[in-house]
Amino acid sequence: MVSIMSDCPILDKCIFFNDRMSSKPATVELYKKKYCKSDFKSCARYKVNQATGQSHPTLLPNQDNMVADAIKEIRK
Ligand code: SF4
Repeated sequence: MVSIMSDCPILDKCIFFNDRMSSKPATVELYKKKYCKSDFKSCARYKVNQATGQSHPTLLPNQDNMVADAIKEIRK
């Protein structure tokens, strides 16, 4: 069986994964398992990074509805 689980390619430099974001949600370890160590393609932070090459300062992995605004914010 082929596993679809894999680490996010930008995990080493991600401030969320490395606990360097100013606010830390209670769900941080859960998100790391769900996104960083598995389904990184669904991560809002990953999508913003793919689009801009930059790391957003506050966006959380589950904030998919804020991806477009976060991209605009970085590009302005
Ligand atoms: S928060 Fe998103 S971008 Fe950061 S390491 Fe996890 S999956 Fe990758």
